[in-house]
Amino acid sequence: MTEAEKLKQNLFRKTNSGWEGLEEGIKNNIFNFCDSYVEFLNKSKTEREIIKNVKKMVEEKGFKNIREYTNLKAGDKVYYINRDKSMYLAVIGENGIENGMNIIGAHADSPRLDLKPNPLYEDSGLAFFKTHYYGGIKKYQWTTIPLSIHGVLVKSNGEKIEICIGEDESDPIFTITDLLPHLASEQMERKLKEGVKGEDLNLLIGSMPYNGESMLDAVKLNILKILNDKYGIIEMDFVSSEIELVPAFNARTMGLDRSMVAGYGQDDKVCVYTSVKALLNIEKPQTTAVCIISDKEEIGSMGNTGMESHVFDTFISELLNRLGINKPNLLNQVFCNSKMLSADVDAAYDPIYASAYEKNNAGFLGRGVGLNKYTGARGKSGASDANAEFVAKIREIFEKNNIKYEVAELGKIDIGGGGTIAYILANKGVDVIDCGVPVLSMHAPYEVTSKFDIYETYRAYEAFWKD
Ligand code: MN
Ligand code: MN
Repeated sequence: MTEAEKLKQNLFRKTNSGWEGLEEGIKNNIFNFCDSYVEFLNKSKTEREIIKNVKKMVEEKGFKNIREYTNLKAGDKVYYINRDKSMYLAVIGENGIENGMNIIGAHADSPRLDLKPNPLYEDSGLAFFKTHYYGGIKKYQWTTIPLSIHGVLVKSNGEKIEICIGEDESDPIFTITDLLPHLASEQMERKLKEGVKGEDLNLLIGSMPYNGESMLDAVKLNILKILNDKYGIIEMDFVSSEIELVPAFNARTMGLDRSMVAGYGQDDKVCVYTSVKALLNIEKPQTTAVCIISDKEEIGSMGNTGMESHVFDTFISELLNRLGINKPNLLNQVFCNSKMLSADVDAAYDPIYASAYEKNNAGFLGRGVGLNKYTGARGKSGASDANAEFVAKIREIFEKNNIKYEVAELGKIDIGGGGTIAYILANKGVDVIDCGVPVLSMHAPYEVTSKFDIYETYRAYEAFWKD
């Protein structure tokens, strides 16, 4: 190596692929880890399913509902479930919690189609469900793919009925039709965002009249009869339901080299899975380890299961009560001394759409866990922007644990932007930085990630909690 080459190696930021020079044993660990991740994705397509499956995972490792503890001590593992849709977990540390916590927070909700409160109608001998899309989607992507129906209906007597149709091989699936190209010349002239409109996203669910009858709405009647026989519900029960349509196809290993995962809802289930798996490795940490699985992130974190609600504060107050140390203003002090990785996905650089990115500050697939110092849009608007001192601390943790990371922005400055739950915790006084897996085709029914990045994110979260 020449002197200049050596100098370059010492001074330049490294932007190589994480697969470079990787030992075969580690590659196997990565592939095995991602096989389990794919399995998790396929049984956890909605926030309620995630909470149910995470509860199972953590209870097996000794986590208990906070209500089961009167007193807490170092090493205790505790969780709190908020209305079956969000969840907070903690492993109590040796150091006094008043000195701060190490928090990692992801979200369980993903873009999808929700049923409207009065969804069912018949038109021209076909029965449909009307939908209202949830989160930022490109609407045309949700037509002509197999969709499954997941969710709950609650009758006025409080009885809750869980529905999941389209996941089992023997189940029927559903789809939203699109106009054939032969007749679509007007549609094809429209702007892409208007090609398929919100009110066009109607799910086709039936085409057979009840009992061969010719009466008005006989197809709709047949659908209601089927639902009534199976679940005991009537049309009015849809008004008190939360039913989500998600892709019926499964997550899979992707690429001839098997280096990637394709699957629905990796934003942000990939960070849920990697953070929960990392938390399961934490026994009696120095600093109390806290894990957040939030809801409603895709629509602005509002509502009592979203991060803007005070339920998380209540959970931390309950920890302070059970540690026997609570006093006025202690909660604020705890937050001001805490550190957090906002565990959310990042837009991976897509060379097909290169003009949307600024190459020097983009996250690339396969280069490790992605850090975003700030999110926001057009002049950092809405960003919490991590302090330089805190970014340095995170770098120190990653570098001493040999974790490959890259620091990126979400696309070109004037093109768009986005947000996460980071600012909400930052507003409480917590030091926060966004830290997660880069994703291609984010918010599409089928998103793509790198197995190397998934594993490195898992290692990064573990190192943060163990620091
Ligand atoms: Mn997200
Ligand atoms: Mn998102």
